[in-house]
Amino acid sequence: MFDSISDKFSTVVRTLAGKSKITEKNIQDAVEEIKVALLDADVNLRVVRRFVNGTMEEAMGEKVLKAVDPGQQFVKIVYDRMVALLGDEEHQKLLLKGPDTTSVILMMGLQGSGKTTTASKLAARLKKEGRRPMLVAADLVRPAAILQLKVLGDAIGVPVFSIDGEKNPVKVAKAALALAKKDQRDVLIVDTSGRMHLDETLMDEIKRVSEALKPDETLFVADSMTGQNAVTIAQEFEQKVGITGVVLSKFDSDTRGGAALSLRSVVGKPIKFIGTGEKTEDLEPFHPQRIASRILG
Ligand code: GDP
Repeated sequence: MFDSISDKFSTVVRTLAGKSKITEKNIQDAVEEIKVALLDADVNLRVVRRFVNGTMEEAMGEKVLKAVDPGQQFVKIVYDRMVALLGDEEHQKLLLKGPDTTSVILMMGLQGSGKTTTASKLAARLKKEGRRPMLVAADLVRPAAILQLKVLGDAIGVPVFSIDGEKNPVKVAKAALALAKKDQRDVLIVDTSGRMHLDETLMDEIKRVSEALKPDETLFVADSMTGQNAVTIAQEFEQKVGITGVVLSKFDSDTRGGAALSLRSVVGKPIKFIGTGEKTEDLEPFHPQRIASRILG
């Protein structure tokens, strides 16, 4: 991820960083190259415009042109704006209540986005942190989803709640929450069903599950490989159901990075974790500053 954009950004940074004097023309050229790099990376057009105009405005001031180290000043502007684009603050933690009560995490996303895998990765992570998670198989559409979650749960030693033959995910969710409370499970992670494409039935179903559970955290799992489509779908989920955070799956794939660079700005919710592989331990907190440094090379 980011290989191509990082190549282009580091060229811009190298060209300007060492200069003891830079002109308005230098800045215009650099900003133009940044614009092309962002567009090539499939970043949302509005996001690109805002980034480019803001950078230009800030860099054209006396602060940069008259600075002792103008190149460095320019690079700092680009870096700060990149961090802001990715999510301002450092890693944003899960919104969970204390261990004396049951918190609920609702997982949403299109089929194949990595929802089920991410649910089990989160469970494993929380268990390691000393929590007592329970997984819930409320994806009642994809035939193999329940079994898949059971296999994943077994492998990490986390119980998986399901009801054989039940077609109503709200019933499954409510029964799971009641059991979690009784068994003093402090985090319930609910895997909901996805579809290949968005449709009203899916949204209604997830909305009903959400209303029944009143989750503390509603995570949208976005597949990095789907680029702008991931951003559009996230917006839909945000408007129709409401989300509190994003997990960007398949961050290890060879994509241009458009989803990562557009999501926060377009949807307005933080990216909390990234999926970096198929294995249970391949889930990492999302650090905007580290990613920005990586892109700037
Ligand atoms: P769901 O339909 O949304 O529940 O998707 P799954 O959890 O079944 O994942 C779909 C496929 O993506 C599976 O083959 C997963 O192993 C794979 N997958 C999920 N997350 C990641 C990730 O972060 N990196 C990679 N490389 N593969 C992933």
